[in-house]
Amino acid sequence: MALRVPLVEVACPLCGSRDAREMLRAPDPTGVVEGEFRITRCRECGMGFLNPRPAPEALAACYSGDYAPHRSPESQRPRRLSLADRLVLRTFYGWPFGPAPAQRPRRAPALSRALLTPLRGRFDRDRKNIRFLPFEGGGRLLDVGCGSGAWLALHAEGGFAAAGIEPDPLAAERARVNRGLEVHTGTIHDAPYPRESFDAVNLSHVLEHVPDPRETLSAARDLLVPGGLLALSIPVIDGHAARRLGPHWRHLELPRHLLHFPRPVLLRCLAECGFRVEHVRDDPAGDGWRESFAFAPEALRSEAWFAALARSKRRRRRLGRELATRGESSFVVVHARK
Ligand SMILES: [Zn+2]
Repeated sequence: MALRVPLVEVACPLCGSRDAREMLRAPDPTGVVEGEFRITRCRECGMGFLNPRPAPEALAACYSGDYAPHRSPESQRPRRLSLADRLVLRTFYGWPFGPAPAQRPRRAPALSRALLTPLRGRFDRDRKNIRFLPFEGGGRLLDVGCGSGAWLALHAEGGFAAAGIEPDPLAAERARVNRGLEVHTGTIHDAPYPRESFDAVNLSHVLEHVPDPRETLSAARDLLVPGGLLALSIPVIDGHAARRLGPHWRHLELPRHLLHFPRPVLLRCLAECGFRVEHVRDDPAGDGWRESFAFAPEALRSEAWFAALARSKRRRRRLGRELATRGESSFVVVHARK
């Protein structure tokens, strides 16, 4: 039985305007919450947002028991580090694989960098360059929405002083017990850390779920040291797959995704919240052709191009690479500095 939740009308979560037009309507692809949901686009600032959206007290109920952050596309994150990964991370990302060095990690000698360049090429082609963070400062890393801690554990293994925050108590418990990680159950707003506690904060598939993006970004900013790194992974509503599939794009994830940033609006919002964007990388994992196909109506499934993409991993890879090169992927990873 699908769940009925109370909905409330909201103003634009970025600029407060009430002047918005409808972009699309779509149901919950997982069937957990009953009804059809509407994404509107603010005429003032261009932001996309769910409106009306579940009342604050009903939000938690919209996540079914098996809605697990580690089951979404970021589960394609590698689970363990190969020898090649370790070499690349040590040489090019400064990972110490041991206690954090007292001083700035020494730059690897030019010769080993040159010898490892082919390995690094492969690492980048496998999109591992968007999964791993560089080791900086004391390597103090906070992963917000860390799930059961798979990603965080890899960084801890590399020598980061890793801490996590996770609202789902079960996932947080798993991270603590199975992986021995320091994980706080809750949100970034009740994180038990003083200001400027971290060299890096990771917000992976978090910002699209929160009611007020500025509040979350400014909490992350408070926790970072000056010059600290914010890593943000997030779906964008103006990617090629999102535009082409419209209401049938799997990663709309209604009504759990409250915010649907177009890429330029996201970058502007970061700047307004006091971050200097360092780079934006496209993540083809979010195009979601196959996942969308599974939920698409029959008429769309019978279109030859879509069926071919859903069938062939090779085609999806080729298109994914092409879209990433053009900056038209539907997931992005942004690195920004405080
Ligand atoms: Zn607005």
